[in-house]
Amino acid sequence: MERADERLERLSRLYALYDRFMGPKEFFCHRGCSTCCTCNVTLTTLEVDYIRCHLGPEGTEAIVERVRNNFSRKRFQPKITLNGFARACMAGRQVPDEENDPRWGTCPLLLDQVCTIYPVRPFGCRILVSTDDCSHTGVATLSEFTLTVNNVFMQYIEHMDCCGVYGNLSDMFLALSGDETEGLSVTIKNQEAKGFMVPPEHRQRIRPLLEEMTRI
Ligand code: SF4
Repeated sequence: MERADERLERLSRLYALYDRFMGPKEFFCHRGCSTCCTCNVTLTTLEVDYIRCHLGPEGTEAIVERVRNNFSRKRFQPKITLNGFARACMAGRQVPDEENDPRWGTCPLLLDQVCTIYPVRPFGCRILVSTDDCSHTGVATLSEFTLTVNNVFMQYIEHMDCCGVYGNLSDMFLALSGDETEGLSVTIKNQEAKGFMVPPEHRQRIRPLLEEMTRI
């Protein structure tokens, strides 16, 4: 079985690969832009471990404190993971309706419009790479290919963490810190990737990236 530190090292290399892959392009997103920092952000156990490992016990306790003090009662609580969604689609099964509204509140880890854990933020926060200022347009502008790349990375991270769970950031930190008072764990089990969600028109273009990912 793979050691915990090896899995975290692989995740770190995956983040670096994503940055490298996206690097030369022009994006509006930057540290301090918080338009998409909502209470609906989700992550896997592996990403929680990454944050805890880098911030240590005190940094983790600070996160839990911020979550407790800035708790949005209404928040996105996923009913299905991305690999679960992909499997259901492949099998022709119904997928559950999901409700997700940015107006439910801001991310509890946001302070004065700046992310308090920016260098170790979850992957879901790294992928809203908009080419326009979404505070003006109301939505992030992403190419179809970028959406495919994002999905593949998210599927891969879930696959790496298929023994772990997935859920809203507030629930994950409260549950994993042993806090039983608020937002009891509403997390769901991660799943292996049985296939990546790549449309036919992107298959050729994404192949080199998939090869690099599998080397990680
Ligand atoms: S973790 Fe940081 S980057 Fe992600 S939504 Fe919260 S404040 Fe924004």
